Parts: sequence; structure tokens; C-alpha cells
Amino acid sequence: MSFDAEAVRSDFPVLDRRVNGHPLTYLDNAATTHTPRQVYDVFEEFYAGYNANVHRGIHELSHEASLAYEEAHDRVADFLGADGREEVVFTKNTTESINLVAYGLSRNLGEADEIVATEMDHHASLVTWQQIAKRTGATVRHIPVTADGHLDMDAACDLVTDDTAVVSVPHVSNVLGTVNPVADLAALAHDHDAYAVVDGAQSAPTRPVDVGEIDADFFAFSGHKLAGPTGIGGLYGKREILAELDPFLFGGEMIRNVTLTDSTWNELPWKFEAGTPPIAEGIALGAAVDYLEELGMDAVRDHENELAQYLLRELADREFVRTYGPGVGEERTGLVSFNVEGVHGHDLSSLLNDRGIAIRAGDHCTQPLHDRLDIPGSARASFYVYNTRADVDRLLDVVDSARDDLDAYLASDRYHDLVS
Ligand code: PMP
Repeated sequence: MSFDAEAVRSDFPVLDRRVNGHPLTYLDNAATTHTPRQVYDVFEEFYAGYNANVHRGIHELSHEASLAYEEAHDRVADFLGADGREEVVFTKNTTESINLVAYGLSRNLGEADEIVATEMDHHASLVTWQQIAKRTGATVRHIPVTADGHLDMDAACDLVTDDTAVVSVPHVSNVLGTVNPVADLAALAHDHDAYAVVDGAQSAPTRPVDVGEIDADFFAFSGHKLAGPTGIGGLYGKREILAELDPFLFGGEMIRNVTLTDSTWNELPWKFEAGTPPIAEGIALGAAVDYLEELGMDAVRDHENELAQYLLRELADREFVRTYGPGVGEERTGLVSFNVEGVHGHDLSSLLNDRGIAIRAGDHCTQPLHDRLDIPGSARASFYVYNTRADVDRLLDVVDSARDDLDAYLASDRYHDLVS
């Protein structure tokens, strides 16, 4: 049976709203996805039913909250193919997860060490490794991006050497849509006794992920990009590596035994979850991965691919549009970055907003990648489970008329009201 996006839409009431007199067309899913009723209902159930702090209280509400919060770790572990809750740390988002790893590994980094990252890294990864390198004296090297938007794997093989301590790569580029060969890169890292860190912010929401198959040592992701709430994300880490890794935050919940002069750490994963965690958000993250599993991640991937390929094919026919990343028919995810000749991305985005269509324009937190592509920015349309071909058609209509309509729109009161 083909994927029924129309049925999925009924789980997302926000999609019924209108923006500037038009039905909302939401194509900014790579920034954040919407949250279905099945997920946000968790907040009402929690606050109306069993709000309490976790792990500490010996009372019924705390017991129920603790069970639900801990079980959410199990669901995420299943979703990612991890070997139990010990391997899943809840964090705020991908950014915090990568910082946790970088801080933890920094203890063993020094001037002789190299970190291999990529030119297509999101700033969450790029800036973090850059700053850790500055502190530790390590050097960061970047795997180049080829003209057709792939990682240059020959260069990667040369860059990763016995001096490499960490190989950190995005699974999916948030600009190019490229699906990187992360299992090969992890194997390359391991051949040189380096850690393999995968930024899964754009892959966990959009395709089946099995951290065991990738053989990643760490895999970071955000809840708000996979139909979950903001404020919650996660880090998968191999149990034996997490056991050795220094905690990133200190305080209550993460300790086992404390004296005035020393402390020991709690068992995994709680050793990395200092203080009161975002409990309702964590439980809702469990509901989000349940929701996606119910749809089937293969089906989610295929549905998004189908929309992205449709948009790519249509844009390829328009000589005034340039797209970036793998082309028609190549493997990629459900996002397409592009520029319309003579129209700045922000103006296009603003014009689309005027017609109720949400996309994103700018550098998408990948300034070095845009420098590499030699463009100041790009417009990006990104799809999720509730998008349909009709959404793509609405986008194309505005793209087609943008060059004719833009001047009138920029002179209109509607535009001035928006920017003033
Ligand atoms: N990595 C990639 C590839 C991303 O697309 C994003 C979000 N745009 C992030 C990291 C950062 O995610 P967050 O802001 O949720 O930490």
C-alpha cells in the first residue's frame, strides 16, 4: 500500500491553519518538524496525571514518571538499533550531544592528534571540533566535498591516518541532502583506532538507522526534527566507550556516591544526565519514535524521496534555477536546496511566506559549505511525512512567478508590515 500522507495530516492540526490568507504549506522540516497529537498529548497526560521528579521519590507519581522516562530510553534504543537504554543518553539536542562527545574525548586529545571532520558539517559539529582543537592543540582536517555534493572518499582515505583520533561526519547533509557512506567512514576510522562520531540530525528522522550496522561509536540526533518536541534529543554511544567517557555535566542524578572531596558516577546512561531532566519531553520523544515506527521508517524514507525527486525533476527543467547536491535519480533525502536566478533567497522565502509557504533561506548553519559552493546562501525546501505533491506544486507556482512578482511584493504594504 502506498504511503497515505493525507491520513497522516489529520494527526497534525497545525497543518489546518492558514497563513496570510492561504492554507499553510510547511516545507521547513529540516529545521524542525511538526508534532502529532499522539506526541503532544503526552504533555497533558504527564502534567495532569503524574508530574513528579524522576529517580528520587519513593511515591507513586515519582515511580510512574521514572518508569515512563526510563522506558522512553528503551524505545529510542530500539528505534536506533542500540543495545539497551544504557547506550542512549537524553540531551537537549544534537548540538549538546556532539558537545558531550567532544568534551568527553578531549581528555585524551593533544598536539599530536588529528580530528577529521567534513566541509559539509553543520556548525553544531564544525564549531565544536574547531574549538576543542584550539583548547587541546589537536588539528582538524576536513574531508572535501566534490562538485556533485558528495564527500571525496579518496581524500578521506588519505586524511584518516594513525594520527587521527576522531572521525566526525554528518550522516545526511542538511543542505545537499547527500547520504554519506557512514559505515565505510566508521570502518576507516576504526582501521586507524579512531572514534567514529555520526551527526544523525537529518538521518534519524528520515530513514531507518541501525547504529550497529554503521558501527558508529557515537550517533547524535534531535527530537524536534523527528516529530518530537523541542528541548530533547539524544546521544547513542557504545556502552564500553560511554563507561570510560568523562561526564560533561556534574550535579545531582549523575552521581553514585559523594564525599566532600570526591564522587563516583551513576550507572549508564544516568551518569550523563545531571540534574532534573526534561521529563515530559523525554517521554514525548519515546512517543515520537513510536509514531514513526508505526508509519515505518522505510515508508517515511520512500515518501520523502519521492517528493524530493519530483521537485528536483521539476527544477531541473527550469534553466533559471540552480539546485545543489546529488541530482535526479541519485540517492538523497527529502530536502532540496536551490537558488532562483536574480532572486535573493530571503526575498524568495518572504514571497513564499506571503503565499502561506514556509521554507528556509540562508546558510543553514553551514557557512564553510556555502563558501565551498561559492554562494552566499540558498533556499531550502524540506519534506516530512505530511507533505504531498500538492505542496510541491504550490512551491513551484511561486518559484515560476517569483521574478515577475517580486518587485510588486517588495513594494507592498504586506512586505513592509512584515519587516518593520
Ligand atoms: N546537524 C545537522 C546536520 C543539522 O541539520 C542540525 C539542525 N539544523 C544540527 C546538527 C543541529 O541540531 P540542533 O539545533 O537540534 O542541535
